[in-house]
Amino acid sequence: MGSNGNQKDHAVELSAYLSLKKIADAQYDYEDARYVIFGVPFDYTSSYRRGSSRGPAEVRRAYDNLESYDVTYDIDFTEIPICDLGDIGVNEDPDETVDLVSEVVAIIRKDGKIPIMIGGEHSITGGSIRNFKEHGMIIIDAHSDFRFSYMGHKNNHACATRRSLEVLGEGKIFSFGTRSTSREEFEDPDFKKVTFVRAEEIKSEGIENIFLKYSPRMEKQIYFSIDMDGIDPAYAPGVGTPEPYGLKDTDVRYLIRRTAKITNGFDIVEFTPDFDNGNTSMLAAKLIQDFIGSRETTRKI
Ligand code: MN
Ligand code: MN
Repeated sequence: MGSNGNQKDHAVELSAYLSLKKIADAQYDYEDARYVIFGVPFDYTSSYRRGSSRGPAEVRRAYDNLESYDVTYDIDFTEIPICDLGDIGVNEDPDETVDLVSEVVAIIRKDGKIPIMIGGEHSITGGSIRNFKEHGMIIIDAHSDFRFSYMGHKNNHACATRRSLEVLGEGKIFSFGTRSTSREEFEDPDFKKVTFVRAEEIKSEGIENIFLKYSPRMEKQIYFSIDMDGIDPAYAPGVGTPEPYGLKDTDVRYLIRRTAKITNGFDIVEFTPDFDNGNTSMLAAKLIQDFIGSRETTRKI
């Protein structure tokens, strides 16, 4: 009969069949990790096209196709202490799910590690941000997400920026790529407490100039949240609520590169595999590598 060694091989073999799949570069245990990846397969409040709950699995699948060595950062990601916890077990209650996310991120933060959360829909950011009170925030999003509540839920994905404002306060949130908001949100007196940078402004001035313009007002520590619909549907078609005339993939990469060294929490949300052609999952996976690579590299990028 097989030795323990054989059983170890079998565990690896079985993991290919079962839903134990980890991000390809995540080679470390939690205790030794600096970056802690986890998925939140939750899409209950999505208003248009559901399916972002399958986001974490598809990002992991796409990630398999990336090289572990990146020539720009001169980094082999398998040598960086990254772990992948798998997915949080969620139910259909948005309030409970957001609380759960908050509890998980609290533990990771307490251990001095950097959470990387893969959604799921944008409502989950409202749980994570509770653990970053002394931080500023960068959001990539087509939408202002500034409704007080939507379809009966305060933790609807259309309220993500509003919930974050309640935690962080005035002047600390910069949302890049805005091109969709309701009159009700726009005329809300609190709307000006967030800096919404329109996609058109970024297109006409260029991302470098935009960053120079706003970065002096940014906090010294950042939480970075990417709603994939902030990026143009040409690059990221697989989202729940697509919006034309968005950011370029390299605009987002630029912002990640400029701020990674001061970013202590990161999420990618709203990726919806059913509407993807393969580009969105790959871009989401690559943006995770770009975040870690930019944060770890000693090169000038
Ligand atoms: Mn959003
Ligand atoms: Mn959005």
